[in-house]
Amino acid sequence: MTYDYDLFVIGAGSGGVRAANRTAALGKKVGVAEESRYGGTCVIRGCVPKKLYVYASTFPEHFEDAEGFGWSVGETSFDWNKLVANKEKEITRLEGLYKGGLNSNGVDMFDTRAKLQGAHEVYLEAEDRVITAERILIAVGGTPNRFTSFEGHEHAIISDDAFDLEELPKSIVISGGGYIAVEFAGIFAGLGVDTTIVYRGDEILRGFDNDVRELLHEEYEKRGINVITNQVISKIEKLESGAKRATLSNGEEFDVDEVMLALGRVPLTDDLGLELAGVEMDDGGNIVVNEYSRTSAQNIWAVGDVTDRLQLTPVAIHESMCFVATEYRDDPQRPDHETVPTAVFSHPEIGTVGLTEEEAGQRFAKLNVFRAKFRPMRNTISGRDSRMLMKLIVDAETDKVIGAHVLGPDAGEMAQVLAIPMKMGCTKADFDRTMALHPSAAEELVTMYDPSYTVVDGVPVGKN
Ligand code: NDP
Repeated sequence: MTYDYDLFVIGAGSGGVRAANRTAALGKKVGVAEESRYGGTCVIRGCVPKKLYVYASTFPEHFEDAEGFGWSVGETSFDWNKLVANKEKEITRLEGLYKGGLNSNGVDMFDTRAKLQGAHEVYLEAEDRVITAERILIAVGGTPNRFTSFEGHEHAIISDDAFDLEELPKSIVISGGGYIAVEFAGIFAGLGVDTTIVYRGDEILRGFDNDVRELLHEEYEKRGINVITNQVISKIEKLESGAKRATLSNGEEFDVDEVMLALGRVPLTDDLGLELAGVEMDDGGNIVVNEYSRTSAQNIWAVGDVTDRLQLTPVAIHESMCFVATEYRDDPQRPDHETVPTAVFSHPEIGTVGLTEEEAGQRFAKLNVFRAKFRPMRNTISGRDSRMLMKLIVDAETDKVIGAHVLGPDAGEMAQVLAIPMKMGCTKADFDRTMALHPSAAEELVTMYDPSYTVVDGVPVGKN
């Protein structure tokens, strides 16, 4: 049997593009289909534009802080439309690089929606034809959940919309307490928008270390963000004035310019022909894969958000690299989802690697916890009332550092670097014999000599 392609990739986001390029570079015939823009969520409507907006939103704080250092900053103003236009220019440039890379590797690009028609057949909608491929990789990603069953959902925006609003709202209510809700709250508040978060649980950022969650909540309130917990939005209405009314479960009403839903993402598996190819999904519509990212169809693999393992760009890329090594280099590699660093680009930022105290407490009999909360040097003469947190979780038996959590400036950068020794299995003694770099905030990580408290059988002892 001969096929049109050795590999056909559906979806040109981070995962799909990496697999297509790497496989084509090995001399294989590769095609890729993309129904939207090349670069996917990360480049077009996720990490990249988000980080640019985060940068934009931190300037007012810098202007304020400058005064303590002797500067007088004159009148400032902000042009939302200019930010949106410059963001667009940048993501268009990156999209061009993605296309250029595929082109130079000899990958055939199809600007169309594609769906499976069989285990080896892919239907290209715009061209109304079927191509065949020996192997198929599904890398279609996900999209924010619009909660269409929810009353008034049509009046709310999601993160995709938030990047391109015609004007910056004066006030916003954001529903959710995860990465996207917290990051956009920081962006909007930094840009001067009156911002409220409404979260259903006790504390925002479930899954993160409790100390980090509590401190971020405090810091957000100091910055004027209204954080409401144990509530949900029960309905959204559009008023005659054009304002939107969000009614909470306790009856409280908020009349605001925008309401944003940041309640998780769903896989883009609807109408993808998965049944025709024998590709199984779980109850949430995510594609089920084995440890090598292979689906229930022997010649079809899936990587990235559509498999809902860890919804992070570098993870999708890593999964693709493992797929290529396994299938085309005769070097079987399983993606490693352990000790993955992650950051929340809130104000202040969170960087984290490994286990939270709560998770570690469930798995290890005794933990030594090293914790420091302090005012970073920059905040001394600027007078900014903002604290930084560093926390190391250590398995008392082996002395291994199994969790590191930072909240404060550059926390994401620190988490990336901390992930290397932690991946190597370093011990607290390795931290102790590492020279501090002075003056820096990160030096605190190697100068916390005595445990702040211990955790025995999941219960903190001596914690205050
Ligand atoms: P998250 O899963 O992080 O957060 C979803 C939030 O919505 C949670 O607070 C959740 O509450 C809440 N929620 C879900 N369903 C309901 C409901 N029916 N009613 C009320 N609240 C609800 O998803 P996001 O959309 O924020 O982000 C998606 C993923 O994208 C992240 O998990 C992350 O992997 C990735 N991402 C990564 C970023 C980064 O690396 N910096 C940035 C942005 C996204 P609860 O916690 O109680 O379940």
